[in-house]
Amino acid sequence: MTSEVTSPEAPRRVAVVPHTHWDREWYEPFQTFRMKLVRLIDDLLDQMEQDSSYRHFLLDGQLAVIDDYLEIRPENEGRLAALTGAGRITVGPWYILMDEFLVSGETIIRNLQAGLRRATAFGGAMDVGYLPDMFGHVGQMPQILTQAGFEHAVVWRGVPSAVDRNAFRWESPDGSSVRAEYLVAGYGNGAALPDDAKALVRRLQAHLEEFGEFLHPGDPLLLMNGTDHHHPQPWLGRVVAEANQAQGEFELAVTSLPEYLRSAPTEGLPEWRGELRSGFRSNLLMGVGSNRVDVKQASVRAERALEHLAEPLSALFLSSGGWPERFVDLAWTLMVRNAAHDSICACSVDDVVDAVLHRYAEARHIGEGLAGEALGALAGSMADPGPVVVNSWTPDRGGMVEVVVPAEGPPGADVQVLSERTGLPGSMTLDGRTVLTMLGLLQGARIGEDSYVTDVSLAEDDTGLDITIVIGTEAREGVPVEEIKRELFTRLTARPGTEVRLVLDQPPVRRILARQDDVPAFGWSRFSPAPLAHPARVVEGPTGDSGAVTLTNGVLTAVIDPADGTFALDGVAGYGRLVDGGDHGDTYNYSPPQQDSEVDTPDSVAITVHDRGPVRATATIDATYTWPDRVDEATKARVGAHQVHVATTLELRADESVLRVSTSFVNPSRDHRLRVHLPLPRPTASSRAECALTVVERGLVAEGRDDEIGIPTFPSHRFVSAGGLTVVHEGLLEYELVDLEDAAGAGAAGAGAAGRGAAGQRATTLALTLLRATGMLSRLGMSLRPLPAGPMTPVEGPQLLGPVQVRYALAVGDVDPYRMATDVLDPLLTSGSFGGGDRPARGSALSVRGAEVSSVRRQGGRVEVRVFNPGPTATTVEIVGRSGWLVDLRGRPLSPFEGSFELRSQGIATARLDGD
Ligand SMILES: [Zn+2]
Repeated sequence: MTSEVTSPEAPRRVAVVPHTHWDREWYEPFQTFRMKLVRLIDDLLDQMEQDSSYRHFLLDGQLAVIDDYLEIRPENEGRLAALTGAGRITVGPWYILMDEFLVSGETIIRNLQAGLRRATAFGGAMDVGYLPDMFGHVGQMPQILTQAGFEHAVVWRGVPSAVDRNAFRWESPDGSSVRAEYLVAGYGNGAALPDDAKALVRRLQAHLEEFGEFLHPGDPLLLMNGTDHHHPQPWLGRVVAEANQAQGEFELAVTSLPEYLRSAPTEGLPEWRGELRSGFRSNLLMGVGSNRVDVKQASVRAERALEHLAEPLSALFLSSGGWPERFVDLAWTLMVRNAAHDSICACSVDDVVDAVLHRYAEARHIGEGLAGEALGALAGSMADPGPVVVNSWTPDRGGMVEVVVPAEGPPGADVQVLSERTGLPGSMTLDGRTVLTMLGLLQGARIGEDSYVTDVSLAEDDTGLDITIVIGTEAREGVPVEEIKRELFTRLTARPGTEVRLVLDQPPVRRILARQDDVPAFGWSRFSPAPLAHPARVVEGPTGDSGAVTLTNGVLTAVIDPADGTFALDGVAGYGRLVDGGDHGDTYNYSPPQQDSEVDTPDSVAITVHDRGPVRATATIDATYTWPDRVDEATKARVGAHQVHVATTLELRADESVLRVSTSFVNPSRDHRLRVHLPLPRPTASSRAECALTVVERGLVAEGRDDEIGIPTFPSHRFVSAGGLTVVHEGLLEYELVDLEDAAGAGAAGAGAAGRGAAGQRATTLALTLLRATGMLSRLGMSLRPLPAGPMTPVEGPQLLGPVQVRYALAVGDVDPYRMATDVLDPLLTSGSFGGGDRPARGSALSVRGAEVSSVRRQGGRVEVRVFNPGPTATTVEIVGRSGWLVDLRGRPLSPFEGSFELRSQGIATARLDGD
């Protein structure tokens, strides 16, 4: 790119913003990078205190680096705060520089709120949405920023060819917009400046030669003086002063982003609406969505435990004073740290990814633990005894539950018995020593998965001791197990020869599946099995193809083809075809080997039926494949062979139009990509996928360039719909529409200049990536991305050798994908109650209608609800029977509401409710 550089009469202003981009963990583990960070900030504080010409430093827009530093240098907090308070060091607004596509919308918001909150100790956050290195940007980002009071964003990757200027107006689908400064040459366009004024001026001239076409005459030039883990350059203030004295072409100033943006032009800018996912001028690195599927699964499970279980249940079923604030904050700190772009993307060394997985596990453990406590509090307050079914999310819904009930009488036609256990042997006589040994093993009242001591008594006479233990299916409080244990120890230690007569009283129980109808949103209902309108069943044998197995409930029918292990859904055949191809790429990008070969047919198939209804029908397709071992470095071909056994279980429930699929295998192969191909009931040119707080519509083409060919593998957070098919998945974040045909009729796929896929075509299949296994953090000479995107370090973890299990669900026809995602990913919960409280048999703690819910939690003692409207028209959001205030993302009041409020199409709103 070159352009005529005109020489305006006034000198070109050059804003030099010294900074460092601090990847907290990446090609080195966190602790290793942190040692360098501590030295960097030590030096920075000395430099800035001694040299007033080093006017400013941008501490990378994320507060995590400050906490990481102060953990080692707590004595320097005052020095740091003095410089931030004076405006010489800018901090925030984020807590971490996250990836925007691979985490939930709520994680992005909590990250921003955590950064803003932490920044108050340092004079407040920079009011610029600084997004220097993210691998593309979600469409709702301008709205999130404006709701936190920002007017500016700063971006680099993802900006499309349509933007041909150093700034543009970036609009969210609701119409909110910010001025986006476009770092055309990246956040390191002024890194490593020379210690010589003449050389500096030559560098500026060369930069303008290359990128001047993006600047209008008179526009200042923004020079970002820093890059990844970049140390401050102590001569900067001096060389800038010398350059200003030596010439009149440029007028340089060491400054901050907010200062630069205050005078940056805002008129006549190009406009862009929605997400930024182009590789036209810089790498988008779209393959991170399918790298380390285990990390993505861990992430969405932890998100769900916090967002959909712990927070709503604790907010709604514990008193205001019982809100577990510190636990919730700790869990979110772990989630937000993992949201860092090199962490969730897992384009990092194995030690880093181990740490990421551990943080996700801890966040999930906190979430599940808090959810269990809130659920117990709810169950403990029920008026009547028996199982209670809880809906932790919205809307009102029914669903399958698994409960243990007393085995009294026949089970009934609408339940499915999983197991039945008759009473334990009634009584036995033991000697004292044996009893002492047994007592040592008994910890509390729980003695099995669904067995608890619910009563215990002790009596003694001249002939020995009598113990009576009553065993039930649910825990009961106040059972004196420990007291009786102590008593027995005392007596048996004194008289070890005592005869002990033990009576175990356990009524027979059965574990059943049933359908619970209509549990209110954020509510509960006593368990009561509903009649099944559409019972599930299995048909085997000669009804259709020989050996075919059919799961049907009259609403949806799945027929498994024993020839190739695929299945038909409502007559459309070919679902579940596993396509295994080579991947000679790296953690950032898929790249087929030069000599690729695909395996898409099994060597053998066997089908096993497990459940035959009426509540649940399941069958497993056991398919054996021969997958190559690896890509050979010399021949670039897939070589070697492994027999791999892939088990795919299909599950159809009564009264549901969704087929649940679970696939598991022990991955034996390296350097490959495994996708499941899902036929589209009708060919289509577009897909609709969930991304942060909205649904994004995309076509068949991705913009790229020769250095990174644009392949239309796109992210979806929980669901994607295309051509009459909806897929809900658990952490399988990458999909692609494939098997293209000409819109006019059948035809071969064409290829765009720097992208694959072409306009004027329609796709007939959705490919969902189940696994992408590679062995290099980054690599040189890949077919779709020739230059490295990071260090060329061998890594073993991304090969994902070992057990892999993935889950997704399918529905055909018109479905509400949010509702389907809730049904599949947020099952109804069960707990046991002994009664005695005052909670009625059925009720709801919160009713939100007219919009999707993103979050329910407590803030400042009040219940806070965040909603968004993914629909094409404005909506009335009803929060039934509640009043309160709409607030912005900083918690500042906007307007009061009484029962309901209006929300524009694609809008996001946060409501704080009055009362407890
Ligand atoms: Zn980075």
